[in-house]
Amino acid sequence: MRKTAIPSSYPAEGTYNFSTIHVDLSCATPGATIHYTIDGSEPDENSQVYCRDNGLLHLEGKHGSSVSFTLKAYAEAEGLERSRTVTFTYRFNCFAKGYFRHTMLREPADGCPGLMCIEDHDLDRMFLVIGTERAVLIDAGWSREGDLPTLCKELVGKDIPIDLVVGHGHPDHIMQVENFLAAGCKVYLPSRDLELAASFGVNPAPGSTFDLTEGMKLELGNACLTVYEVPGHTPGGVVLLDEENGDLYASDELGSCRRYVPDSAFLQLDPAFTLETNLRALDSFIEKTWGKVKRIFTGHNDDILDGPGYLHALRTAMAKAVEGGEEALRPSYRSAAESMGSGTIAWEGDWRYDPFWAAVNLRFLYDRDRDAVPPKYVKGFQPELAKFDDFLDK
Ligand SMILES: [Zn+2]
Repeated sequence: MRKTAIPSSYPAEGTYNFSTIHVDLSCATPGATIHYTIDGSEPDENSQVYCRDNGLLHLEGKHGSSVSFTLKAYAEAEGLERSRTVTFTYRFNCFAKGYFRHTMLREPADGCPGLMCIEDHDLDRMFLVIGTERAVLIDAGWSREGDLPTLCKELVGKDIPIDLVVGHGHPDHIMQVENFLAAGCKVYLPSRDLELAASFGVNPAPGSTFDLTEGMKLELGNACLTVYEVPGHTPGGVVLLDEENGDLYASDELGSCRRYVPDSAFLQLDPAFTLETNLRALDSFIEKTWGKVKRIFTGHNDDILDGPGYLHALRTAMAKAVEGGEEALRPSYRSAAESMGSGTIAWEGDWRYDPFWAAVNLRFLYDRDRDAVPPKYVKGFQPELAKFDDFLDK
């Protein structure tokens, strides 16, 4: 009898620096069932059955130490012999809190600002733009430990002011705010996200930070960053565009999807907004900046995104959800338990092979649905899992 094809995995086995990855299992035989274990034991017919629609397998490392998982899986299909068991080993080698790694993307030159990417222990990304007169760090990471202002000073290597600009008030983007204030740096944080930042324990003294509003310009000498408000991920979120060079710094406001954490771009709308308002905000941003965005630097994507291609994918995903409603959504790539109750995403493209793909988790949009009488939940939303605590413990 012919054998079922052996299972394969995505992403490939190997060593990861990031603390969380999501693994997909599949095989080339249509309709095959995959049994697996993640503790190194031999899988059999009593082992878990893999189902993508219940969320990809979630593997998690530990900061400052090494952890490994041995995943074993076989596939079986009707009328075929079962495949042999294959083994995949995933190792995590995560940085300790307080460690920041940095990489040079562009050396400073007279006509063009320098650009560096700095990542915290969990690889949350920040960007240091080095102009002739000032430097700006965009976002402030997930750890209070470590001295990011001093590292930036060392990286800039000349005596110019270094400002901090925070794109939005989430915990993985704000934790060094107080260190920057203590170092005497000018700190910008959208006022509409101050309350959110305070809820995560970052509570700068009133008046100590500067607001970011539509059309504001931050002059760096040989470069200028223009602020655009793009509410949706958070009420106050902003992005910054260096028009001259086509660089857009987007924090999480235009999505934040790693291929290994495929739908982390939650919409956390202000009660005054709807999904449609968010789509219109995106449309308005695209219209105002058309032809000016060459590339997008986000807080979490593994890659630097192609501006037009990515904006088109994101716009298409949002439009699908607005125009198609519930029927146009698909199960989240991550389980409902991991997605604060949401089992649904709006998406465009495939997270594994499309260069331009986008996935937006609509979890927060349904806070109001929960309070409706009778409650109306979008397919897959599990209110009993709608807790923020696990997320905060990270
Ligand atoms: Zn965020």
